[in-house]
Amino acid sequence: MCAICMKIPCDSRCPNAPEIKPVHICIDCGSSIFSGEKYFEGPDGPICKDCMDDMTTDDVLEMLGEEYSTAEKEDIYGMQAWTDS
Ligand SMILES: [Zn+2]
Ligand SMILES: [Zn+2]
Repeated sequence: MCAICMKIPCDSRCPNAPEIKPVHICIDCGSSIFSGEKYFEGPDGPICKDCMDDMTTDDVLEMLGEEYSTAEKEDIYGMQAWTDS
């Protein structure tokens, strides 16, 4: 038994408690990302899963610097089909 906090295992506030260090800090909400937790390695830094879950697809695309393409008829049939007629 720990002589300081009298608990097994140590109370998290006990100086003898094993220190759990976050592997990353979410750049969005600032919360800790611990070993084994899922997160997204964004272009600006790690983002926790909670923040990713809150994001819309548009948010994610914007973060990645991507955007939706606009589908054009020509992309499917080719320019020739339309100019030859
Ligand atoms: Zn202790
Ligand atoms: Zn976050």
